[in-house]
Amino acid sequence: MSAYEYIEHDYDVVVVGAGGAGLRATLGMAEQGLKTACVTKVFPTRSHTVAAQGGIAASLGNMGADSWQWHMYDTVKGSDWLGDNDTIEYVTRQAPRAVYELEHYGVPFSRTEEGKIYQRPFGGHVSEYGEGVPVSRACAAADRTGHAMLHTLYGQSLKHNAEFYIEYFALDLIMSDDGQCTGIIAWKLDDGTMHRFNAKMVVLATGGAGRTYFSCTSAHTCTGDGAGLVARAGLPLQDMEFVQFHPTGIYGVGPLITEGARGEGGFLTNSEGERFMERYAPTFKDLASRDVVSRCMTLEVREGRGVGPLKDHIYLNLSHLPAEMLHERLPGISESARIFSGVDVTKEPIPVLPTAHYNMGGIPTNHWGEVLRPTADNPDATVPGLMAAGECASASLHGANRLGTNSLLDLVVLGRATSIRAGELIDPAGAVPNSGHAKADDIFARFDATRNAAGNSPTAEVRLKMQKAMQTNAAVFRTSETLSEGCQQIDEIWGDLKDVKVVDRSLVWNTDLMETLELQNLMSNASAIIVGAEARKESRGAHAHEDFPDRDDKSWRKHTLAWVDENGKTKLDYRPVHEKPLTSLAEGGVDMKKFAPKKRVY
Ligand SMILES: Cc1cc2nc3c(=O)[nH]c(=O)nc-3n(C[C@H](O)[C@H](O)[C@H](O)COP(=O)(O)OP(=O)(O)OC[C@H]3O[C@@H](n4cnc5c(N)ncnc54)[C@H](O)[C@@H]3O)c2cc1C
Repeated sequence: MSAYEYIEHDYDVVVVGAGGAGLRATLGMAEQGLKTACVTKVFPTRSHTVAAQGGIAASLGNMGADSWQWHMYDTVKGSDWLGDNDTIEYVTRQAPRAVYELEHYGVPFSRTEEGKIYQRPFGGHVSEYGEGVPVSRACAAADRTGHAMLHTLYGQSLKHNAEFYIEYFALDLIMSDDGQCTGIIAWKLDDGTMHRFNAKMVVLATGGAGRTYFSCTSAHTCTGDGAGLVARAGLPLQDMEFVQFHPTGIYGVGPLITEGARGEGGFLTNSEGERFMERYAPTFKDLASRDVVSRCMTLEVREGRGVGPLKDHIYLNLSHLPAEMLHERLPGISESARIFSGVDVTKEPIPVLPTAHYNMGGIPTNHWGEVLRPTADNPDATVPGLMAAGECASASLHGANRLGTNSLLDLVVLGRATSIRAGELIDPAGAVPNSGHAKADDIFARFDATRNAAGNSPTAEVRLKMQKAMQTNAAVFRTSETLSEGCQQIDEIWGDLKDVKVVDRSLVWNTDLMETLELQNLMSNASAIIVGAEARKESRGAHAHEDFPDRDDKSWRKHTLAWVDENGKTKLDYRPVHEKPLTSLAEGGVDMKKFAPKKRVY
């Protein structure tokens, strides 16, 4: 008999998360008549997707020539040849269809004079397989694209019969003895009741883990819960060492100034007023890929050319652009700059600094969203009953570095793919699996231990220690020394986590307990990031290792797998990159000779 009573629910599909990925998955499931629940810890339209500014990539060619093949090439190159080419082909080919679908659902895209969807240039979006000029590929609704998408997708999900469980916190996956996922346990935050969701398929769409770092652009809710759930189920995480630092977080606070600001003509300057990106990336300058721009900014600051009294940041200039255009195309960031740094963008530059922004790694999946449990004979073996999509997953569209506007695309294309595959796998007439009480009791035992934790370390203190350790040791540049130091510190912080102090024992709106559960999840992410980074003796994409400055395809063109146990002990292994695209050249695919790895220059 469990210490906790719970309410049971039976569904064909339970989606955890109501951001862009969760809502697109929910919508696709419900549309086919599958009985679908969407469980979310925040109200759907408060998910971090709401903050996405710049746009969603698709080769519509509305503002100049473009093609899905060029988009595919740019994504392969952007990934620094770590992405899986089958996934990249699938997503870039589906992109125009996905954007028109959003248009028809009601997303209010900005328009060109002729009434077509407006597209702006973004870093790394180029024509002619990287050899041509920058292309305008990012479809935008002013600088509030994610906001428009999220509200539209929520409306569409409600139109079908998806059921929403709002402000329910997923605690753990229920796994059967033979390794199938059969549901989740969730805690209802506003009344303290417990819930067991039995399902034929669970889809994790829990978003990123920005909060492992001290300075990040993402919401306080981005605590990598999906990765925590998966790690505790004994499943691996993939490529976690690749964390994207966005070049332009507002100095001192972190909120994002979209890359669209540079797409519209903004540029960076150092203390000498120099447009230094011209020196590092002569062709694409301020629109080189994100990892490249972040590193150049860090180098300028290190070499004494930072701005401000401490010479520790960089300026982003927009004041040369027409005020009217700023008002029309970038209203949100003009407001953020005013609120967070007191700057009037029509008159002064914005103080900015690279800030943790996106997790390229996550729960490994194939391009249908099925979660992988690689074995010695089959690196692509799947876990029955479990899928993942969106930022919590690693499909791997982004490899070692994500191109701007490819994430919103990832959400809708791969969110939809989970529903297509689930439609094939699920028998609506079949019985919903029932794991019995024992599995739930194990989960409640962990929950109860945390709820009654009476150690000496307050949650906020442990979290801050972790965030500082990650920021100091695993940021834009890494060395063997900082990484081994970081591994040791994170290991010690696991000790603090075992000694955590939860003050509030209630079950109703207990934010102290919720933040502690989130911290446990964050720590699984932190370990996978730092241990994976320490082991990877090369530089690739977002992983810039100063002691190994070159990419080493011979030894390291492979995905990292990290198993993190409940004490933070982390075991690594690797799986091969999918070099083969989905479609052969003869069947209308790309000419892979053009995609062979080479030095990545912009
Ligand atoms: C400021 C900012 C700007 C960005 N701009 C762009 C852009 O212009 N273009 C682009 O392509 N990408 C952009 N990105 C990246 C992109 O927005 C994100 O990667 C993407 O929105 C993540 O969506 P998601 O659906 O995976 O998760 P999220 O939108 O983060 O949603 C996660 C969901 O999971 C739920 N959840 C999490 N844990 C639990 C739990 N334990 N129990 C229950 N529910 C849970 C939450 O309630 C939430 O509904 C930006 C990111 C940021 C931070």
